[in-house]
Amino acid sequence: MSTALIRTLDLWKTYEMGSEKIHALHAVSFEIERGEYVAIMGPSGSGKSTLMNLIGCLDTPSRGQYYLNGKLVSEMHDDELAYIRNQEIGFVFQTFNLLARATAHQNVELPLIYAGVPAAERRQRAAKTLEMVELGDRMEHRPGELSGGQRQRVAVARALINEPAILLADEPTGNLDSKTGIEIMALFDRLRDAGNTIILVTHEMEIAEYAERIIQLRDGKIESDRPSSRLAARSEATRDEIQGLESRDLTIDSL
Ligand code: ADP
Ligand code: MG
Repeated sequence: MSTALIRTLDLWKTYEMGSEKIHALHAVSFEIERGEYVAIMGPSGSGKSTLMNLIGCLDTPSRGQYYLNGKLVSEMHDDELAYIRNQEIGFVFQTFNLLARATAHQNVELPLIYAGVPAAERRQRAAKTLEMVELGDRMEHRPGELSGGQRQRVAVARALINEPAILLADEPTGNLDSKTGIEIMALFDRLRDAGNTIILVTHEMEIAEYAERIIQLRDGKIESDRPSSRLAARSEATRDEIQGLESRDLTIDSL
């Protein structure tokens, strides 16, 4: 039995529209290990959001199996699924999905309220997570009093508050200008370096290249699954560094 964090086996999602059948997902199989940073990339309508909803346990496949941490999701009970959605998966959406009348602090605290965490601990943890996304000085601001990038950072803090096993982001830079988008991607880099598992859904190759692996969808099928150019460049740099060290060792030895 595989120990992958995520394992999908022949996942299908079929929508019936009158007499027509739309295969939003078509025999999709892959594994994602803990600590991986993966982009799910594809044009509009290729099945990205459908796949994200399945991975996030927000929807069920028409056919096939999804194992999360070795457990078959289709056999989980509603309370177990609710627990996983609250504790194990942090969602970030294109449209931020913040409560307009609540402060940054209250928005980030929300998952802890659902989890029944006492007020003092909630306050402390929300403050710490907002500091992590560099919004320690904006805790009492409401979404309308924040920039787009700041709103998305509040949403990221809310997603992280329960220290989830997976951060799932659907087009997180879709509503941001390119400079602010880069800031959010830099934040994801830091989260990845801290050991988080990140699944990023995007239709933009430039954004997908921030991840280490790119799963490309087309018409609901996996078209390719490959390391990103960035990872390839990074491993080349590591190899050069190791070679540099080795040749230095040689010089030291020959002294
Ligand atoms: P993406 O996120 O890549 O743009 P989606 O996963 O939203 O793609 O959609 C994949 C395909 O499934 C599209 O052809 C879309 O029209 C169709 N689809 C998505 N949701 C539904 C639904 N609830 N009912 C019928 N068809 C749907
Ligand atoms: Mg989508």
